[in-house]
Amino acid sequence: MSGDRIPVMIPWLGEEEAQAAADAVLSGWVAQGPRVAAFERAFAERVGAEHGIAVSSCTTALHLALVVLGLGPGDEVVVPSLSFIATANAVRYVGAEPVFADVETATGNLTAATVDAVRTPRTRAVLAVHQGGVPADVDSLRAACADWDLPLVEDAACGIGATVGGKSVGHGALIAAWSFHPRKVITTGEGGMVTTDDAEWAERLGRLREHGMNASAAARHASRQPILESYLEVGYNYRMTDIQAAVGLVQLGRLDEIVTRRRALAARYAELLADVPGLTPVGDPAYGEANFQSYWVLPDQDFPASRDQLLSALAEAGVSARRGIMASHLEPAYQGHPSAPLPVTERISRDSLILPLFHTMTEDQQDRVVAVLRQQAAAG
Ligand SMILES: *Cc1c(COP(=O)(O)O)cnc(C)c1O
Repeated sequence: MSGDRIPVMIPWLGEEEAQAAADAVLSGWVAQGPRVAAFERAFAERVGAEHGIAVSSCTTALHLALVVLGLGPGDEVVVPSLSFIATANAVRYVGAEPVFADVETATGNLTAATVDAVRTPRTRAVLAVHQGGVPADVDSLRAACADWDLPLVEDAACGIGATVGGKSVGHGALIAAWSFHPRKVITTGEGGMVTTDDAEWAERLGRLREHGMNASAAARHASRQPILESYLEVGYNYRMTDIQAAVGLVQLGRLDEIVTRRRALAARYAELLADVPGLTPVGDPAYGEANFQSYWVLPDQDFPASRDQLLSALAEAGVSARRGIMASHLEPAYQGHPSAPLPVTERISRDSLILPLFHTMTEDQQDRVVAVLRQQAAAG
């Protein structure tokens, strides 16, 4: 083992975030307040949406998106199995049924064709993921969903900073859900956001995350007259804190720099891996640019080492890699849940691995990762 351990991901946080969090604490306003409102405005503007509603995670963002769409028992929602399990679970939260669709190999994303293959008369929505920061082909998915008269929800947990046709992921989305978990491109510790252009949905989302209350704490604070709130429907406590939003505002300011760095590291990986036979790295799709939130490689079926052998060899060399994106339908939580055959999903999930990629990663660290893979490719 040479050199320090290389992590798969470290968030890029510094003094500015620490100071912003400290300022929020010292202001005395630590729960949802002015910093959350400022973060919502800045984030919505950055992705080109009319409204941003900050919540506690992408999981809760997805839940609320499905609530405002009015989905419930008896409804089917087409989702990729190849995703973090929260995508499918959100459908279960509203009592609807996730229907797993396969993905395309190159991007790991749903396509109009894979959705069409599992669509039924009970399908009420499509939930597409921008997997690992590789944008889904939303132009074609939106057009297909319009033809089918189905709403398209976008799970953009990994998507901030990725683009389609030069525009941010989320631009033009009916409704999109975002994550600020430390494993994603920018972080608030835990945190999420819903973006939409629909003003009525935005208002309802703002209430739903706050127990269904019609007057926010901020509105009551700003008013000179007592505001008597009422609770219009059963809501949730899915709020983000002002401490998190303060960190998020600083992180958002670093987004371009972070994505530029990730793309440069991804391009260098692609160059280095070009002469390792049998490994196909993820890359930009024809219609957009990835942020490389997850940098995965897919070994050929006859690669001399199995995925788990690759992970072990990397671990022995002090490199922390990860199995590729999970296949939700294979988890115990979905045992017995009916599913069409998902050959591409199972192949990617079984064989792919995620390599380290983080803002402060050095070329030397990258060379060490590739050296292990090259050695394994030659071992056969
Ligand atoms: C991380 C992730 C989520 C969950 O995000 P949280 O903010 O941790 O709830 C949902 N969907 C996808 C595709 C993710 O990668």
